[in-house]
Amino acid sequence: MSRLLLVEDDRGLAAGLGAALRRDGSQVDVADCGREALRLARSAAYDACILDLGLPDLDGIELLRMMRASAIGFPVLVLTARDALGERIRGLDAGADDYLVKPFELGELEARLRALLRRRGADSTPWRQFGPLRFDAEGGAAFAGDAPIELTRREAAVLECLTRRPGRIVSKEAILAAAFPTDSEAAPNAVEVQLSRLRRKLETAGVTVRALRGLGYRLEETGGHAVQ
Ligand code: CA
Repeated sequence: MSRLLLVEDDRGLAAGLGAALRRDGSQVDVADCGREALRLARSAAYDACILDLGLPDLDGIELLRMMRASAIGFPVLVLTARDALGERIRGLDAGADDYLVKPFELGELEARLRALLRRRGADSTPWRQFGPLRFDAEGGAAFAGDAPIELTRREAAVLECLTRRPGRIVSKEAILAAAFPTDSEAAPNAVEVQLSRLRRKLETAGVTVRALRGLGYRLEETGGHAVQ
């Protein structure tokens, strides 16, 4: 089942689209303004977003830029007004994956959405799930259940490295290279600093990074079992 974020201030259209998408088996959250959309986008792991560019409070393109700047990486399908070619181009430049011009046929929206979700499903780095921890290896967003875990770029890079091969031991050198890709002089104890911060942030997800002396590190459930 896909989880969708529908951002549309036209209540009639939002209700109609929401009902149709739910009939297709999706779970749909509706935001009727940009601020609410941003709050929802940061608080849950969506599979895709349908974004109307004409919103009452924020410019839809500005909202899209803010989402992409917050490492929110799910696909976005923008809805634009007829003949707004400039708007479409700006939308794609700001990180939209596809667009539809209003008015559109419901069937076309559903087909475009299926294509986006398929593309996402075919990604080499989809969501990685470990118990309650959900991590978008591409965008760097992490969640404990539905609650976002704020990670720095380095922490996300370390988590990406640790979740690449679940249950396996990752060497300190591999983590060092992931966290400091351009700094060959970074001290090995900088890894410890990154890892202790990451452990604190992962506490709510019931996952920790265990040091195995002389071997490296492994992602484990807090109970001590290696995460498979
Ligand atoms: Ca609108």
